[in-house]
Amino acid sequence: MDVTGPLAAISACHCDLCTRWSGSVQMGIEVPRARVSYKGPIRTYASSSFAERAWCETCGTAVWFADTEGENAELLELAPGLFDGFGGAKLARVVYADRAPSNFALAGELERVSKADYEARALHVEDKR
Ligand SMILES: [Zn+2]
Repeated sequence: MDVTGPLAAISACHCDLCTRWSGSVQMGIEVPRARVSYKGPIRTYASSSFAERAWCETCGTAVWFADTEGENAELLELAPGLFDGFGGAKLARVVYADRAPSNFALAGELERVSKADYEARALHVEDKR
């Protein structure tokens, strides 16, 4: 995976789908698709009518989450673990912050966006909770 230009901050998500896919808390670094290139066998799964999740077919590593339509369709949320030291990116934002589990917490000065605030302005899947 090669990315031209700097890596932005890391965002985390506590929605139901991200919790299941990641196994705990999903994190991503938003990068325009045009700045990303790769050689490996990447597979995608349509996780909803407007988004996909991608992984490496060889090793199963999570690679990205991305909207496939709407205003964010030109962006990939790349898995921070693809880059040594997370490419220097730092966790800055947590969405579905009010859905964070009681078992652990992401500490620090973070922008914390509630489920209601996020869903008011972004494509989303209805959580069952
Ligand atoms: Zn999510």
